[in-house]
Amino acid sequence: MPASIIDGKMIAAKVHEENAEEVAALARDYNVQPGLAVVLVGDDPASRVYVNMKVRKCKELGIYSEKHVLEKTASMDEVLALVDQLNNDTRINGILVQSPPPPQIDEDAVVAAINPAKDVDCFHAENVGKMLIGKQDGFVPCTPYGIMKLLERSGIDPSGKHAVVIGRSNIVGKPMMALLVQKAKGANATVTCVHSRTKNLAELTRQADILIAAIGKPEFVTADMVKKGAVVVDVGINRVDDPNGRDNYQLVGDVKFDEVAAKASMITPVPGGVGPMTIAMLMHNTIKACKLQNGIG
Ligand code: NDP
Repeated sequence: MPASIIDGKMIAAKVHEENAEEVAALARDYNVQPGLAVVLVGDDPASRVYVNMKVRKCKELGIYSEKHVLEKTASMDEVLALVDQLNNDTRINGILVQSPPPPQIDEDAVVAAINPAKDVDCFHAENVGKMLIGKQDGFVPCTPYGIMKLLERSGIDPSGKHAVVIGRSNIVGKPMMALLVQKAKGANATVTCVHSRTKNLAELTRQADILIAAIGKPEFVTADMVKKGAVVVDVGINRVDDPNGRDNYQLVGDVKFDEVAAKASMITPVPGGVGPMTIAMLMHNTIKACKLQNGIG
């Protein structure tokens, strides 16, 4: 039997509904409105699309938003000055600097300059540390957080299961491992992480009850790498040339969908799987930042 589809679009829509209700309750009960500032340095077309999507979603939910666009030649001093201004702006509860910035910008230094209380992307070392030790007063990075929600709301309990994460980036792979291994409800998995230096990759992925692919290589995961009945989460977003596609390309994931879907028990599609959850969790984190900054429990 082919895998059932984990419908990220539908689950994200539900999270957005809850987000909108929380925003309305904050206005009604406390007279506060969450605020998010999105900073774009340069004119990368994909980054522009992501930034606009985030601003649009804020508007839909009633979250105050600001978009700051700096020239692609902007200096570190300019970016840091803007971050400093936003750190001190009480309208703004969350700050996000869209990745990747142009090469003259030291992304680590920019992240370190963001007030951790406003670091809704959870890239700051303070929040990464809090996530790792399971403290609840920081943030959880949006993509892995979205995946945990997808699992939870699809009735998949990772407890005692073998989860294999392909990829070890700071944005997806490493925090994904950290969340799955937490001693906490909805986690408690046995986790293996594989990457480009792993020798017996397919041997390990074939052991996965839950397989999470965050590689950035189109259709890398094939059916022979997957155990029958596994849950497969595809994080990848890859543009591949397609003369029949809109703008001559199509988006594919890191998983060869058709053949893996024939073997898995559940699978996320691309698009419409993990992607919509990332933005839903960004909005959730912005609301959380607003509550923490206003002492609302
Ligand atoms: P990175 O390029 O930062 O990391 C990729 C990881 O995959 C690295 O750890 C790398 O290993 C590993 N890798 C690369 N090639 C191989 C290989 N042949 N065998 C085994 N491992 C390999 O990517 P990200 O984590 O930022 O993103 C991964 C994918 O997820 C991308 O397609 C990205 O677009 C997508 N993404 C989607 C999001 C969403 O909202 N849906 C959000 C963020 C990312 P090594 O460390 O050894 O180099």
